[in-house]
Amino acid sequence: MNGSTFVSGYDIWGNLSTISADPARPGCGVNVLSQSANNKNQITGDCYDLAGNLLGLSPPPCPAPTYSYNAENQLTLTAGVTYTYDGDGKRVKKSSGTLYWYGGGNDPLDETDLAGSTANAAFKEYVFFDGKRIARRDYQNNVNYYFTDHLGTTRIVANSSGTVLNDSDFYPFGGERVITSSSGNNYKFTGKERDSESGLDDFGARFYSSAMGRFTSADPVVITPERFYDPQQLNEYAYVRNNPTRLVDPTGMLLQLSGNVADAKSDLCQIVGADNCSRITVDEKTGVVTFDTKDLDLSANAGAALVSDLIQSQSTYDFSSGPTVETAGGTVKVDYIKNLPPTADQLQYRKCQCPADTETPRKGVADQVAFNPNDTRGVRESLTNLKLAVPYTVVFHELAEAYAKVDGAQKTYADAHGAAMKRENALRDQRPYLKEHNPGSGGPPNQPDNKIIIKNK
Ligand SMILES: [Zn+2]
Repeated sequence: MNGSTFVSGYDIWGNLSTISADPARPGCGVNVLSQSANNKNQITGDCYDLAGNLLGLSPPPCPAPTYSYNAENQLTLTAGVTYTYDGDGKRVKKSSGTLYWYGGGNDPLDETDLAGSTANAAFKEYVFFDGKRIARRDYQNNVNYYFTDHLGTTRIVANSSGTVLNDSDFYPFGGERVITSSSGNNYKFTGKERDSESGLDDFGARFYSSAMGRFTSADPVVITPERFYDPQQLNEYAYVRNNPTRLVDPTGMLLQLSGNVADAKSDLCQIVGADNCSRITVDEKTGVVTFDTKDLDLSANAGAALVSDLIQSQSTYDFSSGPTVETAGGTVKVDYIKNLPPTADQLQYRKCQCPADTETPRKGVADQVAFNPNDTRGVRESLTNLKLAVPYTVVFHELAEAYAKVDGAQKTYADAHGAAMKRENALRDQRPYLKEHNPGSGGPPNQPDNKIIIKNK
Protein backbone atom coordinates (compact mmCIF):
# COMPACT_ATOMS: atom_id res chain seq x y z
CA MET A 1 0.00 0.00 0.00
CA ASN A 2 1.46 3.33 -0.93
CA GLY A 3 0.35 6.86 -1.49
CA SER A 4 -1.01 7.92 1.86
CA THR A 5 1.33 7.69 4.81
CA PHE A 6 1.99 4.01 4.34
CA VAL A 7 4.29 1.57 2.72
CA SER A 8 3.47 -2.00 3.63
CA GLY A 9 5.78 -4.91 2.95
CA TYR A 10 4.81 -8.55 2.58
CA ASP A 11 6.90 -11.65 2.19
CA ILE A 12 6.20 -14.03 -0.69
CA TRP A 13 3.94 -16.16 1.54
CA GLY A 14 1.54 -13.30 2.18
CA ASN A 15 2.83 -12.39 5.63
CA LEU A 16 2.64 -8.70 6.42
CA SER A 17 6.22 -7.91 7.43
CA THR A 18 6.81 -4.18 7.47
CA ILE A 19 4.85 -0.97 7.77
CA SER A 20 6.94 2.15 7.55
CA ALA A 21 6.45 5.83 6.90
CA ASP A 22 6.06 6.96 3.31
CA PRO A 23 9.47 8.43 2.32
CA ALA A 24 7.58 11.36 0.80
CA ARG A 25 6.28 12.20 4.27
CA PRO A 26 9.20 11.61 6.62
CA GLY A 27 8.42 12.11 10.25
CA CYS A 28 4.71 11.51 9.79
CA GLY A 29 3.73 9.32 12.72
CA VAL A 30 2.45 5.90 11.71
CA ASN A 31 2.10 2.64 13.57
CA VAL A 32 5.25 1.13 12.15
CA LEU A 33 5.80 -2.60 12.11
CA SER A 34 8.70 -4.89 11.43
CA GLN A 35 8.24 -8.62 11.80
CA SER A 36 9.17 -11.77 9.94
CA ALA A 37 7.44 -15.12 9.72
CA ASN A 38 8.74 -18.69 9.94
CA ASN A 39 7.82 -21.66 7.76
CA LYS A 40 4.47 -21.97 9.57
CA ASN A 41 3.62 -18.34 8.72
CA GLN A 42 3.96 -17.60 12.44
CA ILE A 43 5.85 -14.55 13.66
CA THR A 44 9.47 -15.38 14.37
CA GLY A 45 10.22 -14.89 18.04
CA ASP A 46 6.61 -15.26 19.18
CA CYS A 47 5.17 -18.25 20.99
CA TYR A 48 2.39 -20.42 19.52
CA ASP A 49 0.69 -23.59 20.72
CA LEU A 50 0.49 -26.72 18.57
CA ALA A 51 -2.92 -25.70 17.22
CA GLY A 52 -1.40 -22.48 15.89
CA ASN A 53 -2.78 -20.07 18.50
CA LEU A 54 -0.59 -17.15 19.55
CA LEU A 55 0.43 -17.58 23.21
CA GLY A 56 2.60 -14.52 23.67
CA LEU A 57 5.05 -12.11 22.14
CA SER A 58 8.16 -13.83 23.42
CA PRO A 59 10.30 -16.65 22.01
CA PRO A 60 10.15 -20.32 23.08
CA PRO A 61 10.47 -21.74 25.68
CA CYS A 62 7.18 -19.99 26.29
CA PRO A 63 6.68 -18.35 29.65
CA ALA A 64 3.20 -18.14 31.21
CA PRO A 65 0.98 -17.47 28.19
CA THR A 66 -0.43 -13.99 27.57
CA TYR A 67 -3.34 -15.67 25.78
CA SER A 68 -4.99 -18.94 26.88
CA TYR A 69 -7.34 -21.04 24.72
CA ASN A 70 -9.81 -23.87 25.20
CA ALA A 71 -10.04 -27.05 23.12
CA GLU A 72 -12.13 -25.21 20.53
CA ASN A 73 -9.30 -22.69 20.00
CA GLN A 74 -11.36 -19.94 21.62
CA LEU A 75 -9.46 -17.30 23.55
CA THR A 76 -10.51 -17.84 27.18
CA LEU A 77 -8.12 -15.78 29.29
CA THR A 78 -5.99 -12.73 28.76
CA ALA A 79 -4.86 -9.82 30.95
CA GLY A 80 -6.69 -11.39 33.91
CA VAL A 81 -10.06 -11.41 32.14
CA THR A 82 -11.86 -14.69 31.46
CA TYR A 83 -14.16 -15.07 28.44
CA THR A 84 -17.16 -17.43 28.22
CA TYR A 85 -18.75 -18.52 24.93
CA ASP A 86 -22.12 -20.00 24.02
CA GLY A 87 -22.61 -23.09 21.87
CA ASP A 88 -22.55 -20.96 18.70
CA GLY A 89 -19.11 -19.62 19.59
CA LYS A 90 -20.34 -16.15 20.52
CA ARG A 91 -18.71 -14.52 23.52
CA VAL A 92 -21.40 -14.10 26.17
CA LYS A 93 -19.40 -13.03 29.21
CA LYS A 94 -16.31 -11.15 30.26
CA SER A 95 -15.36 -11.82 33.88
CA SER A 96 -14.38 -8.16 34.24
CA GLY A 97 -18.08 -7.34 34.34
CA THR A 98 -19.91 -7.68 31.02
CA LEU A 99 -22.69 -9.96 29.82
CA TYR A 100 -23.48 -9.85 26.09
CA TRP A 101 -27.06 -10.36 24.88
CA TYR A 102 -27.52 -11.33 21.24
CA GLY A 103 -30.40 -11.11 18.79
CA GLY A 104 -30.41 -12.82 15.42
CA GLY A 105 -27.04 -11.54 14.22
CA ASN A 106 -23.41 -11.93 15.22
CA ASP A 107 -23.25 -8.64 17.12
CA PRO A 108 -24.50 -8.20 20.69
CA LEU A 109 -27.65 -6.08 21.00
CA ASP A 110 -27.25 -5.39 24.71
CA GLU A 111 -24.47 -5.30 27.26
CA THR A 112 -25.09 -5.42 30.98
CA ASP A 113 -23.21 -5.99 34.21
CA LEU A 114 -22.86 -9.56 35.45
CA ALA A 115 -26.20 -9.31 37.27
CA GLY A 116 -28.02 -8.45 34.04
CA SER A 117 -29.18 -5.07 35.29
CA THR A 118 -30.55 -2.56 32.78
CA ALA A 119 -30.55 0.24 35.36
CA ASN A 120 -26.91 1.25 35.63
CA ALA A 121 -24.11 2.63 33.49
CA ALA A 122 -22.98 -0.85 32.39
CA PHE A 123 -26.19 -1.20 30.35
CA LYS A 124 -25.83 -0.43 26.65
CA GLU A 125 -28.31 -1.23 23.95
CA TYR A 126 -27.26 -1.11 20.30
CA VAL A 127 -29.49 -0.29 17.36
CA PHE A 128 -28.75 -1.77 13.93
CA PHE A 129 -30.08 -0.83 10.52
CA ASP A 130 -29.41 -3.15 7.57
CA GLY A 131 -26.82 -4.97 9.68
CA LYS A 132 -24.88 -1.82 10.60
CA ARG A 133 -24.62 -0.38 14.12
CA ILE A 134 -26.19 3.07 14.00
CA ALA A 135 -26.94 4.00 17.61
CA ARG A 136 -26.44 3.15 21.28
CA ARG A 137 -28.86 3.82 24.13
CA ASP A 138 -27.86 3.92 27.79
CA TYR A 139 -29.96 3.24 30.91
CA GLN A 140 -31.04 6.91 31.09
CA ASN A 141 -32.25 6.76 27.47
CA ASN A 142 -29.42 8.95 26.19
CA VAL A 143 -28.77 8.03 22.56
CA ASN A 144 -25.41 8.21 20.76
CA TYR A 145 -25.22 7.90 16.97
CA TYR A 146 -22.55 6.02 15.00
CA PHE A 147 -21.06 7.18 11.71
CA THR A 148 -19.01 4.56 9.89
CA ASP A 149 -16.95 4.31 6.72
CA HIS A 150 -17.34 1.81 3.85
CA LEU A 151 -15.78 -0.95 5.98
CA GLY A 152 -18.17 -0.39 8.87
CA THR A 153 -15.38 1.15 10.96
CA THR A 154 -16.68 3.68 13.50
CA ARG A 155 -15.22 7.09 12.64
CA ILE A 156 -17.54 9.40 14.59
CA VAL A 157 -19.83 8.94 17.58
CA ALA A 158 -22.10 11.92 18.29
CA ASN A 159 -24.77 12.53 20.89
CA SER A 160 -28.36 13.49 20.06
CA SER A 161 -27.56 17.20 20.00
CA GLY A 162 -24.80 16.62 17.45
CA THR A 163 -21.80 17.02 19.74
CA VAL A 164 -18.96 14.79 18.54
CA LEU A 165 -17.94 12.46 21.38
CA ASN A 166 -15.56 10.22 19.44
CA ASP A 167 -13.55 11.08 16.36
CA SER A 168 -10.91 8.62 15.18
CA ASP A 169 -8.95 7.85 12.03
CA PHE A 170 -7.81 4.32 11.35
CA TYR A 171 -4.73 2.93 9.66
CA PRO A 172 -5.38 0.36 6.91
CA PHE A 173 -4.84 -2.63 9.22
CA GLY A 174 -7.02 -1.17 11.96
CA GLY A 175 -4.67 0.84 14.17
CA GLU A 176 -6.57 3.76 15.68
CA ARG A 177 -5.51 7.39 15.68
CA VAL A 178 -7.70 9.07 18.27
CA ILE A 179 -8.71 12.70 17.85
CA THR A 180 -11.38 12.75 20.56
CA SER A 181 -12.70 9.91 22.68
CA SER A 182 -15.32 10.34 25.38
CA SER A 183 -18.31 8.08 24.59
CA GLY A 184 -16.73 4.87 25.87
CA ASN A 185 -17.33 3.17 22.52
CA ASN A 186 -15.45 -0.13 22.03
CA TYR A 187 -16.83 -1.07 18.60
CA LYS A 188 -14.13 0.23 16.28
CA PHE A 189 -12.35 -1.34 13.29
CA THR A 190 -14.98 -2.82 10.90
CA GLY A 191 -17.43 -2.47 13.81
CA LYS A 192 -15.84 -5.27 15.86
CA GLU A 193 -15.34 -4.89 19.61
CA ARG A 194 -11.82 -3.87 20.59
CA ASP A 195 -11.03 -5.29 24.02
CA SER A 196 -9.43 -2.69 26.25
CA GLU A 197 -7.64 -5.41 28.26
CA SER A 198 -5.80 -6.89 25.24
CA GLY A 199 -6.18 -4.42 22.38
CA LEU A 200 -7.43 -7.33 20.24
CA ASP A 201 -10.59 -7.22 18.08
CA ASP A 202 -13.23 -9.92 18.59
CA PHE A 203 -13.99 -11.24 15.08
CA GLY A 204 -16.22 -14.06 16.34
CA ALA A 205 -14.31 -17.09 15.15
CA ARG A 206 -10.93 -15.56 15.96
CA PHE A 207 -9.25 -12.51 17.44
CA TYR A 208 -7.45 -9.96 15.33
CA SER A 209 -4.42 -7.86 16.23
CA SER A 210 -4.43 -4.52 14.45
CA ALA A 211 -0.91 -3.92 15.80
CA MET A 212 0.37 -7.02 13.96
CA GLY A 213 -2.07 -6.74 11.03
CA ARG A 214 -2.99 -10.41 11.33
CA PHE A 215 -5.15 -12.88 13.23
CA THR A 216 -3.78 -14.41 16.42
CA SER A 217 -5.07 -17.89 15.54
CA ALA A 218 -4.94 -19.93 12.36
CA ASP A 219 -7.88 -20.40 10.02
CA PRO A 220 -8.92 -24.06 10.40
CA VAL A 221 -8.53 -24.49 6.64
CA VAL A 222 -7.05 -27.43 4.80
CA ILE A 223 -5.28 -26.76 1.51
CA THR A 224 -7.21 -27.72 -1.60
CA PRO A 225 -6.21 -27.43 -5.28
CA GLU A 226 -8.62 -24.51 -5.73
CA ARG A 227 -6.70 -22.45 -3.20
CA PHE A 228 -3.68 -22.41 -5.51
CA TYR A 229 -5.62 -20.19 -7.91
CA ASP A 230 -5.44 -17.60 -5.16
CA PRO A 231 -2.33 -18.36 -3.09
CA GLN A 232 -2.96 -15.42 -0.75
CA GLN A 233 -5.65 -17.61 0.81
CA LEU A 234 -3.04 -20.19 1.80
CA ASN A 235 -1.80 -17.99 4.63
CA GLU A 236 -3.93 -18.93 7.63
CA TYR A 237 -3.11 -15.83 9.65
CA ALA A 238 -3.48 -13.12 7.03
CA TYR A 239 -6.31 -10.61 7.35
CA VAL A 240 -8.66 -10.38 4.30
CA ARG A 241 -5.91 -11.41 1.87
CA ASN A 242 -3.89 -8.34 2.98
CA ASN A 243 -6.33 -6.02 1.26
CA PRO A 244 -7.75 -4.30 4.36
CA THR A 245 -9.03 -1.09 2.77
CA ARG A 246 -11.36 -2.99 0.44
CA LEU A 247 -12.38 -6.23 2.14
CA VAL A 248 -14.14 -6.99 5.40
CA ASP A 249 -14.21 -10.27 7.33
CA PRO A 250 -17.62 -10.10 9.07
CA THR A 251 -17.45 -13.46 10.81
CA GLY A 252 -14.73 -15.51 9.17
CA MET A 253 -17.37 -18.14 8.31
CA LEU A 254 -19.51 -17.35 5.34
CA LEU A 255 -21.76 -20.08 4.11
CA GLN A 256 -25.36 -19.51 5.07
CA LEU A 257 -28.57 -21.46 4.66
CA SER A 258 -31.99 -19.98 3.94
CA GLY A 259 -35.51 -21.08 2.98
CA ASN A 260 -36.26 -24.36 4.73
CA VAL A 261 -33.08 -24.41 6.82
CA ALA A 262 -33.70 -27.93 8.17
CA ASP A 263 -33.95 -29.33 4.62
CA ALA A 264 -30.92 -27.34 3.53
CA LYS A 265 -28.93 -28.64 6.50
CA SER A 266 -29.97 -32.18 5.68
CA ASP A 267 -28.54 -31.75 2.16
CA LEU A 268 -25.29 -30.38 3.61
CA CYS A 269 -25.11 -33.36 5.97
CA GLN A 270 -25.35 -35.78 3.06
CA ILE A 271 -22.73 -33.77 1.16
CA VAL A 272 -20.17 -34.02 3.99
CA GLY A 273 -21.25 -37.60 4.75
CA ALA A 274 -23.69 -38.75 7.42
CA ASP A 275 -20.82 -39.61 9.81
CA ASN A 276 -19.74 -35.99 9.76
CA CYS A 277 -23.17 -34.40 10.21
CA SER A 278 -22.51 -33.63 13.87
CA ARG A 279 -19.59 -31.46 12.78
CA ILE A 280 -22.03 -29.06 11.12
CA THR A 281 -23.81 -26.44 13.16
CA VAL A 282 -26.24 -23.89 11.79
CA ASP A 283 -27.09 -20.67 13.61
CA GLU A 284 -30.89 -20.86 13.86
CA LYS A 285 -31.41 -17.15 13.38
CA THR A 286 -28.83 -16.24 10.75
CA GLY A 287 -28.45 -19.58 8.97
CA VAL A 288 -24.65 -19.23 9.19
CA VAL A 289 -22.95 -22.61 8.90
CA THR A 290 -19.90 -23.70 10.85
CA PHE A 291 -18.09 -26.92 10.06
CA ASP A 292 -15.56 -28.50 12.41
CA THR A 293 -12.93 -30.08 10.18
CA LYS A 294 -10.59 -31.11 13.00
CA ASP A 295 -8.87 -34.44 12.19
CA LEU A 296 -10.96 -34.83 9.04
CA ASP A 297 -9.14 -35.91 5.88
CA LEU A 298 -10.61 -33.53 3.33
CA SER A 299 -8.55 -35.01 0.51
CA ALA A 300 -10.56 -38.23 0.90
CA ASN A 301 -13.94 -36.49 1.05
CA ALA A 302 -14.82 -34.17 -1.84
CA GLY A 303 -18.10 -33.28 -0.14
CA ALA A 304 -16.48 -32.11 3.09
CA ALA A 305 -13.75 -30.32 1.10
CA LEU A 306 -16.35 -28.31 -0.83
CA VAL A 307 -18.26 -27.26 2.29
CA SER A 308 -14.98 -26.28 3.96
CA ASP A 309 -13.98 -24.21 0.89
CA LEU A 310 -17.33 -22.41 0.84
CA ILE A 311 -17.03 -21.54 4.52
CA GLN A 312 -13.39 -20.48 4.40
CA SER A 313 -13.93 -18.28 1.36
CA GLN A 314 -13.86 -14.54 1.83
CA SER A 315 -17.06 -14.46 -0.25
CA THR A 316 -20.49 -15.25 1.13
CA TYR A 317 -22.46 -18.14 -0.36
CA ASP A 318 -26.09 -18.88 0.29
CA PHE A 319 -27.88 -22.18 -0.15
CA SER A 320 -31.66 -22.11 -0.02
CA SER A 321 -34.01 -25.09 0.00
CA GLY A 322 -37.70 -24.65 -0.79
CA PRO A 323 -40.22 -23.59 -3.42
CA THR A 324 -39.12 -19.93 -3.39
CA VAL A 325 -35.93 -17.95 -2.84
CA GLU A 326 -35.21 -14.40 -1.67
CA THR A 327 -33.32 -12.43 -4.33
CA ALA A 328 -32.30 -8.78 -4.68
CA GLY A 329 -35.55 -8.37 -6.63
CA GLY A 330 -37.77 -10.04 -4.01
CA THR A 331 -39.18 -13.54 -3.62
CA VAL A 332 -38.87 -15.72 -6.72
CA LYS A 333 -40.31 -19.15 -7.51
CA VAL A 334 -37.74 -21.92 -7.89
CA ASP A 335 -38.22 -24.38 -10.74
CA TYR A 336 -36.02 -27.26 -9.63
CA ILE A 337 -32.74 -25.35 -9.22
CA LYS A 338 -31.31 -21.84 -9.58
CA ASN A 339 -27.69 -20.71 -9.47
CA LEU A 340 -27.56 -16.91 -9.17
CA PRO A 341 -26.22 -14.81 -10.75
CA PRO A 342 -25.92 -16.17 -14.31
CA THR A 343 -22.40 -16.24 -15.80
CA ALA A 344 -21.20 -13.65 -18.33
CA ASP A 345 -21.70 -15.97 -21.32
CA GLN A 346 -25.24 -16.80 -20.24
CA LEU A 347 -25.99 -13.07 -20.39
CA GLN A 348 -24.11 -12.16 -23.55
CA TYR A 349 -26.96 -12.49 -26.04
CA ARG A 350 -29.37 -10.43 -24.01
CA LYS A 351 -30.16 -6.82 -24.69
CA CYS A 352 -29.03 -5.90 -21.19
CA GLN A 353 -25.93 -7.92 -20.36
CA CYS A 354 -26.51 -7.80 -16.65
CA PRO A 355 -28.59 -10.04 -14.44
CA ALA A 356 -32.05 -8.82 -13.50
CA ASP A 357 -32.65 -8.11 -9.81
CA THR A 358 -34.58 -11.38 -9.63
CA GLU A 359 -31.43 -13.17 -10.90
CA THR A 360 -29.18 -11.37 -8.41
CA PRO A 361 -28.54 -12.79 -4.94
CA ARG A 362 -29.75 -10.73 -2.05
CA LYS A 363 -27.39 -8.12 -0.67
CA GLY A 364 -24.03 -9.31 0.63
CA VAL A 365 -24.21 -12.71 -1.10
CA ALA A 366 -21.76 -13.51 -3.91
CA ASP A 367 -23.57 -16.56 -5.23
CA GLN A 368 -26.84 -18.15 -4.28
CA VAL A 369 -27.93 -21.69 -4.98
CA ALA A 370 -31.64 -22.41 -4.59
CA PHE A 371 -33.03 -25.93 -4.78
CA ASN A 372 -36.67 -26.94 -4.76
CA PRO A 373 -36.75 -30.59 -3.63
CA ASN A 374 -40.45 -30.89 -4.50
CA ASP A 375 -40.11 -29.82 -8.13
CA THR A 376 -39.02 -32.76 -10.25
CA ARG A 377 -39.61 -31.07 -13.60
CA GLY A 378 -35.91 -30.68 -14.11
CA VAL A 379 -34.91 -34.15 -12.98
CA ARG A 380 -32.67 -35.55 -15.61
CA GLU A 381 -32.36 -39.08 -16.80
CA SER A 382 -29.43 -40.16 -18.89
CA LEU A 383 -29.57 -42.30 -22.01
CA THR A 384 -27.16 -44.71 -20.41
CA ASN A 385 -29.73 -46.21 -18.05
CA LEU A 386 -28.21 -44.61 -15.02
CA LYS A 387 -30.62 -44.03 -12.16
CA LEU A 388 -31.85 -40.51 -11.42
CA ALA A 389 -29.51 -38.11 -9.72
CA VAL A 390 -29.51 -38.21 -5.93
CA PRO A 391 -30.83 -34.79 -4.79
CA TYR A 392 -27.82 -33.92 -2.65
CA THR A 393 -25.49 -34.50 -5.61
CA VAL A 394 -27.46 -31.87 -7.53
CA VAL A 395 -26.93 -29.44 -4.65
CA PHE A 396 -23.26 -30.44 -4.44
CA HIS A 397 -22.80 -29.80 -8.15
CA GLU A 398 -24.42 -26.36 -8.04
CA LEU A 399 -22.47 -25.29 -4.94
CA ALA A 400 -19.24 -26.46 -6.62
CA GLU A 401 -20.20 -24.46 -9.71
CA ALA A 402 -20.90 -21.39 -7.55
CA TYR A 403 -17.48 -21.75 -5.90
CA ALA A 404 -15.79 -22.07 -9.30
CA LYS A 405 -17.59 -18.93 -10.52
CA VAL A 406 -16.70 -16.78 -7.52
CA ASP A 407 -13.51 -18.08 -5.89
CA GLY A 408 -12.18 -19.78 -9.05
CA ALA A 409 -13.04 -16.68 -11.13
CA GLN A 410 -14.48 -18.87 -13.92
CA LYS A 411 -16.34 -16.41 -16.12
CA THR A 412 -18.03 -18.84 -18.49
CA TYR A 413 -20.74 -21.35 -17.75
CA ALA A 414 -18.75 -24.15 -19.44
CA ASP A 415 -15.66 -23.56 -17.30
CA ALA A 416 -17.59 -23.31 -14.03
CA HIS A 417 -19.68 -26.37 -14.92
CA GLY A 418 -16.50 -28.26 -15.89
CA ALA A 419 -14.89 -27.48 -12.53
CA ALA A 420 -18.05 -28.69 -10.78
CA MET A 421 -18.08 -31.93 -12.81
CA LYS A 422 -14.47 -32.56 -11.80
CA ARG A 423 -15.37 -32.31 -8.13
CA GLU A 424 -18.51 -34.34 -8.67
CA ASN A 425 -16.60 -37.16 -10.34
CA ALA A 426 -14.20 -37.19 -7.39
CA LEU A 427 -17.18 -37.53 -5.05
CA ARG A 428 -18.55 -40.42 -7.15
CA ASP A 429 -15.18 -42.17 -7.01
CA GLN A 430 -15.23 -41.89 -3.22
CA ARG A 431 -18.83 -43.05 -2.83
CA PRO A 432 -19.32 -46.15 -4.98
CA TYR A 433 -23.13 -46.23 -4.67
CA LEU A 434 -23.29 -42.93 -6.55
CA LYS A 435 -21.72 -44.48 -9.64
CA GLU A 436 -24.98 -45.94 -10.83
CA HIS A 437 -26.65 -42.54 -10.62
CA ASN A 438 -26.62 -39.74 -13.15
CA PRO A 439 -24.31 -36.97 -11.91
CA GLY A 440 -26.22 -34.08 -10.35
CA SER A 441 -26.55 -31.59 -13.16
CA GLY A 442 -24.44 -33.13 -15.88
CA GLY A 443 -24.08 -36.30 -17.93
CA PRO A 444 -22.20 -39.38 -16.78
CA PRO A 445 -18.45 -38.96 -17.13
CA ASN A 446 -16.32 -40.33 -19.95
CA GLN A 447 -19.18 -41.73 -21.98
CA PRO A 448 -19.70 -40.98 -25.66
CA ASP A 449 -23.49 -40.92 -25.34
CA ASN A 450 -23.65 -38.64 -22.36
CA LYS A 451 -26.50 -36.55 -23.73
CA ILE A 452 -29.14 -36.01 -21.13
CA ILE A 453 -32.85 -35.66 -21.56
CA ILE A 454 -35.28 -33.78 -19.43
CA LYS A 455 -37.78 -36.10 -17.85
CA ASN A 456 -41.23 -34.58 -18.01
CA LYS A 457 -43.61 -35.32 -15.21
ZN1 LIG B 1 -23.36 -27.40 -14.04
